[in-house]
Amino acid sequence: MYLLTPGRKEALDPQFCREVRQQSGQPVELCYHCQVCQAGCPLASLVSFGPNRVLRLVQLGARRSALTAEMAWLCTACEACSVTCPNGIDIPRVVEALRAMAVAAGVVSPRHREAAFNRAFRTEVLARGRMAELSLMARYKLAARDLFRDLGLAWQLLRRGKLNLGRPGMRRPEEVRRLFRAATGGER
Ligand code: SF4
Ligand code: SF4
Repeated sequence: MYLLTPGRKEALDPQFCREVRQQSGQPVELCYHCQVCQAGCPLASLVSFGPNRVLRLVQLGARRSALTAEMAWLCTACEACSVTCPNGIDIPRVVEALRAMAVAAGVVSPRHREAAFNRAFRTEVLARGRMAELSLMARYKLAARDLFRDLGLAWQLLRRGKLNLGRPGMRRPEEVRRLFRAATGGER
């Protein structure tokens, strides 16, 4: 079976929904598309596939479309959707699972900058246990190949003392790595 979208024909993968369920711990198959989550999502009017539609892609097995959905990279985990879902589906956890699966599969998000920031943040926290602003931005800018776009903003932050140039660390960063592993089912 295939999913047909303008200019694209995607083979459906019946295993995908089960994989997302396992990775997220959420009963994604229970979604009956009441669209309550969609109504409260601040992103819904900005993206072509809001939370309800992304869950439908997951149920259908449209792996590539779900992993590259803009929402999966822009979701702010505000939880407005999950607190109202009649089936108790924690959509931010589904989103986290989709991001991790996309990274593991080497799927490049059309939102390359968001994916690059996500990777830079995880690398930074895993390496040091804490985030250092300067180092995080260096990782992100290099990965996104976008070195100069925010120079003006960085200068303003620096002048107002809002940009910390130090490199904070913590005594036992391995504890944070352990938490990440527990939260992601051993993915990192
Ligand atoms: S609120 Fe829950 S059941 Fe309704 S569409 Fe959203 S995820 Fe599905
Ligand atoms: S958690 Fe994500 S999907 Fe849910 S309402 Fe907020 S931005 Fe939308």
